[in-house]
Amino acid sequence: MDCIFCDVIAGKTPAFFVYEDDDYVAIMDKYPIHRGHTLLIPRIHHEKILDMPTNLVGALFSKVPLIAKGVVEATQADGFNVGQNNGRAANQIVPHVHVHVIPRYKNITTAWPKRTLADDSDLRSLAEKIRKCIDLTVK
Ligand SMILES: [Zn+2]
Repeated sequence: MDCIFCDVIAGKTPAFFVYEDDDYVAIMDKYPIHRGHTLLIPRIHHEKILDMPTNLVGALFSKVPLIAKGVVEATQADGFNVGQNNGRAANQIVPHVHVHVIPRYKNITTAWPKRTLADDSDLRSLAEKIRKCIDLTVK
């Protein structure tokens, strides 16, 4: 399989590791949004979190505070964002699940995607639609 993160995990492609255990690695993002931008990556290849058993998704996110605490302490950041992209349309560049931990600094602003004010009736019907689509039987 042609996957840059699988290659990094296998040691075939170099990366700057910040953390490693039996199930996860964390590396520096090569194209950081801000200094200290780190990626938490499960060793097992899944393209999107919807391809993973939910307990593995939970386990992945339960590692986020560990990494974020290290990143924030190391960078002296004032805050951080956690991001997880699924699919090209969501800016997922590498098709191997990963969580972005992005330190933020008071004096450095980055434009967040522009927001619009939603229409209440649209919000109401969308909420209803989404509520019906949340399948509590998904494991
Ligand atoms: Zn992979």
